[in-house]
Amino acid sequence: MDAEEFRKYGRKMVDYIADYMENIRERDVVHKVTPGYLKKLLPSEAPENPEDFEEVFKDIEKFIMPGVTHWHSPYFHGYFAAGNTYPSILGDMLSDAIGCIGFSWATSPACTELEVITTDWLGKMLALPEEFLHCGPGDGGGVIQSTASETVFLCLLAARNKIVDKIKKEKPDLEDKEILSKLVAYCTDQANSSVHRSALLGAVKMHKLDSDSNFSLRGDTLRKAVENDKKEGLIPFFLCASLGTTGTCAFDNIEELGPICEKEDIWMHIDAAYAGSAFVCPEYRKYMKGIEYAETFSVNPHKWMLINFDLSVMWIKNSLYLVDAFNVDPIYLRHTNEGKVPDYRHWQIPLGRRFRSLKLWFMLRSYGVSGVQKYIRKHCQLAKDFEKLILDDGRFEITSETVMGLVCFRLKKGNKVTEKLLSEILDDGRIYMIPAFSRDTYFLRLAVVAERTTSDDIRYSYEVIRTCADKVLQHSEEITADEPVVVDIDLSRKKNILGVNADTNSANHVNGHTT
Ligand code: PLP
Repeated sequence: MDAEEFRKYGRKMVDYIADYMENIRERDVVHKVTPGYLKKLLPSEAPENPEDFEEVFKDIEKFIMPGVTHWHSPYFHGYFAAGNTYPSILGDMLSDAIGCIGFSWATSPACTELEVITTDWLGKMLALPEEFLHCGPGDGGGVIQSTASETVFLCLLAARNKIVDKIKKEKPDLEDKEILSKLVAYCTDQANSSVHRSALLGAVKMHKLDSDSNFSLRGDTLRKAVENDKKEGLIPFFLCASLGTTGTCAFDNIEELGPICEKEDIWMHIDAAYAGSAFVCPEYRKYMKGIEYAETFSVNPHKWMLINFDLSVMWIKNSLYLVDAFNVDPIYLRHTNEGKVPDYRHWQIPLGRRFRSLKLWFMLRSYGVSGVQKYIRKHCQLAKDFEKLILDDGRFEITSETVMGLVCFRLKKGNKVTEKLLSEILDDGRIYMIPAFSRDTYFLRLAVVAERTTSDDIRYSYEVIRTCADKVLQHSEEITADEPVVVDIDLSRKKNILGVNADTNSANHVNGHTT
């Protein structure tokens, strides 16, 4: 493809993207294909000779779009919000064109410096303590990672390194393997599956602790777990607290958990992948009381801040815990300005990194703080509107408080009928939702996901649910009595590489959620 063709098809692609976004309601929100559909349609070998791009273009609608789930449709209500905006797409276009591999400042100074500036902007927008900022008093700062999962794993490794170093200073004869087998991390029983996975990958035990009736992890629960584990000879070292859990958007009480972590020298990481974006609005900052105790904090602008996947931001108070822990510095990666600016390769797992701050910069400048606040508040209001429709209907109940853009609800008739309702909704195909399960209760989650969602869209989704409920309730007496639906991942069956059970706390295996 030469420059002229690139201009031609670039313009055509931009038009295609704008049409796709503006007319997304007209598409079926979920694909109707079965596994292997594409294999039947595409040749099994790459073309021997160059093809005309016009032909390639035609095949997007013919072969690709039928297999796409339209996450940015206002009728997609699964998981959590997934950001996407035109400025963010333009940022990715430019990043792809520049195509630098910004692992050190020297490989493209703008790539590092824009990331330093934009993560500070964002940190200030979320009212993070200044210790988390590059412009703050210490060695803190923000860094763009791919995902919140990668961040929690990295933080767990840094915390593991910190505690192993400390113990070896006190007891130099102890071997790493012996120390590792005694380490124990904690999270709430509502934590995202990526948190449990970080312990498996990091070869440490992780105890899932019972959350309270509001699905919040409380200080007393952590205190008791730490006391018990210490009596057993274990070494508590890491807590992943969740602000906005995946199942119900619940908030751990970090004001209670923080002082315990401080006293016990436990690294507190905060996973605010979804709900963290709401802290841009002062009225939601009550949920971050206690943030000053955190060592690290992460939020996904690619979820709820208008940025397309992938862009997850992690802030750390003392970046030396990362730089010292994972510093491998061969001569070919060095440069003369080392130490004056962050070399982000030390702050992440891969070596290479993209110029992702461009899309954050483009979005923040296009929307401003006020635009982001307006978007968050609109989603929260739409969730409240949906909650009202559901409650006014009379046949549904809300299963946990609606605090942000997620509504958790079910039919009052119970688990089995609600399960049937979901299958009716998915068969109908006009909207998409996923279920969750906690404390023997099966419920549906309606997340306000798309930027363009309006009150009319929410009413439309409610109408679909209402008509499906009509059908299901007509036959509800045929649906057999409730029995618990067990959907949890049982960590007790999983062993890490040291052959140690990832979770020895068998009392906590029943509750869980779907992702
Ligand atoms: N943490 C929470 C609370 C989540 O809801 C999710 C995903 O939904 C994650 C972590 C994982 O996010 P990521 O896909 O960025 O790893």
